[in-house]
Amino acid sequence: MKTISEQDKQIILDSIRDIPDFPKPGILFKDISTLLSNATALNTLMTHLEKRYKAYDLDYIAGIDARGFIFGSILADRLGLGFVTVRKKGKLPYTTVAEKYSLEYGFDEVEVHIDAFGENGCCTTGKPAQVLLIDDLIATGGTATAAANLINKVGAQCVEACFVMELDFLNGRKNIEAPVYSVLHID
Ligand code: AMP
Repeated sequence: MKTISEQDKQIILDSIRDIPDFPKPGILFKDISTLLSNATALNTLMTHLEKRYKAYDLDYIAGIDARGFIFGSILADRLGLGFVTVRKKGKLPYTTVAEKYSLEYGFDEVEVHIDAFGENGCCTTGKPAQVLLIDDLIATGGTATAAANLINKVGAQCVEACFVMELDFLNGRKNIEAPVYSVLHID
């Protein structure tokens, strides 16, 4: 089942807390800590994602530092898949591959281990590992675009980028080559 009912969407949406002016004036922060602590909302979300992605032929789930780790690792376990961390620069201990992205001022970088999806990003069959990328929220899309590029850079294939929420007015999905799926759309 790929779609989610309006009722289930509302359960998830109602569990997310809005914090005005955090971390700086003008930003409406979408606080998912209240979604995580709400057993019904978390189960509703994860059951929807499990149903959607069990129809895909995935090899790995990759989560973006740090909230993508939570949803990604629950989903990976539900689907019987391995989980890969896409981390901010300097956190991973082994040989890494990095991808830069622009911020309002300057740039940032995300990294993965070079062998995170197998040697040359390939499964034992020799085909590129099929990877679902996940994060809590897509805003400008800089982080997710870099993460998706990074998956492809190490030889795997980002087959879809999935978000709990998308800030539609920022059109952050525009530079992501893979299909994008967001559970909730915020105007
Ligand atoms: P971006 O690269 O602009 O798409 O930013 C996405 C990352 O920043 C995600 O990892 C989000 O967790 C975080 N983020 C950006 N904007 C918000 C927001 N309004 N509320 C909560 N998290 C946000």
